[in-house]
Amino acid sequence: AHLDRIAEVDGKVHAFLHVDGDNAIQKARDIDRARAAGEELGPLAGVPIAIKDVIATKGVPTTCASKILEGWRPPYDATLMERINGAGMVMLGKTNMDEFAMGSSTEYSAYGPTNNPWDLGRIPGGSGGGSAAALAAYEAPLSIGTDTGGSIRQPGAVTGTVGAKPTYGGTSRYGLVAFSSSLDTPGPCARTVEDAALLHAVIAGHDPRDSTSIDAPVPDVVAAARQGKTGDLTGVKLGLVKEFAGEGAEPGVMAAFRDSVDALVKLGAEVVEVSCPHFLYALPAYYLIAPSECSSNLARFDGVRYGLRVGDDGNRSLEEVMSLTREAGFGPEVKRRIIIGTYALSSGYYDAYYGQAQKVRTLITRDFTSAFEKVDVLVSPTTPFVAFPFGSRTSDPYQMYLADLYTIPTNLYGGPAISVPCGLSEGLPVGFQIMAPTLADDRMYRVGAALE
Ligand code: GLN
Repeated sequence: AHLDRIAEVDGKVHAFLHVDGDNAIQKARDIDRARAAGEELGPLAGVPIAIKDVIATKGVPTTCASKILEGWRPPYDATLMERINGAGMVMLGKTNMDEFAMGSSTEYSAYGPTNNPWDLGRIPGGSGGGSAAALAAYEAPLSIGTDTGGSIRQPGAVTGTVGAKPTYGGTSRYGLVAFSSSLDTPGPCARTVEDAALLHAVIAGHDPRDSTSIDAPVPDVVAAARQGKTGDLTGVKLGLVKEFAGEGAEPGVMAAFRDSVDALVKLGAEVVEVSCPHFLYALPAYYLIAPSECSSNLARFDGVRYGLRVGDDGNRSLEEVMSLTREAGFGPEVKRRIIIGTYALSSGYYDAYYGQAQKVRTLITRDFTSAFEKVDVLVSPTTPFVAFPFGSRTSDPYQMYLADLYTIPTNLYGGPAISVPCGLSEGLPVGFQIMAPTLADDRMYRVGAALE
């Protein structure tokens, strides 16, 4: 049914870069047979899933929506794919995204944008716009995203779906093509909080192949979501970040957010205003740290190891072939990040830019730590604005970067956060963000499920 739905609507939505129909049907039949034979299967066995094209899938094209990886088929599966396959889930295909997960609108895909199912003239968010649009268009019931600065939550917000960024290190990065290694976090996308929790439980947990993976028990996020659904939040303290109050969210977004806070108060939650004075420096710090790490990570795309190679005619030097390949293979936003990052890391500027940004990161972490001494979770709108029309923010990178104003602090800290739909503004979905302390992912699922 999902493959039929994809055939019917994906020409308009363009959520997928690659549909793996034959394998999906084969796998679904295998699961049916196993079920008929009385094999014990997990709760998500046979459930279809769409995978962001930044995750390595054995033998299946993985492009990161970049020309430089066109035609590359990874020889191995990411750890989270092994877990998804092990749970008996059925991969439908790979979803569209901003090139190498850099962007907030999916307009930076080298293969053309994804259209928001709510209004095909508007962006579906980014970088994981394909993973969110596939859910909103009922092409898939579950999908995987990755969140470096908001790329799971922001697309969730603008498509009226749920996106959860787990604690950094709570889900394995092995087989996730690296953008900014100290921030990248894979996580679940779904249409309900409980569905997201069920997928979270499949993919989370320690992986010895990822040196930053956390060796600690995964909180029971499914039980927490079910507890939240009872609608009782007695004793739960919600923190409203004082510094976010004056920060240019659209009036309709603020109104939907405030109504949702009131709804949570009716369920027994208590609201406390907290000050996080360094949150407003998160965006500039991120736009030094993320490009710095990306300039180093993307050095591996040298025209030798993967995908595209340009100008290798036997007369050119290795350096010339690398340069021609990178010139032709990377899009403008990726090049911008590599140049900014290389500059910020160069010896004369390292202390002034990268070093300074790392200090700001520490101060933001302290803001979170002291806020969580007073409250259980922090809440905010997920994005300052609803889905915007194509082309309206591409000419000024800063306008595009603002989409992640509220999501980026969490990435710099490393904690978990979820975006849950909380009503409409001008007929378009608004997202409600719940941020929790590191390793307390269960808290955000409880509050999120209560809000639903
Ligand atoms: N929009 C942010 C960026 O462009 C976040 C991207 C992400 O989370 N992958 O870097």
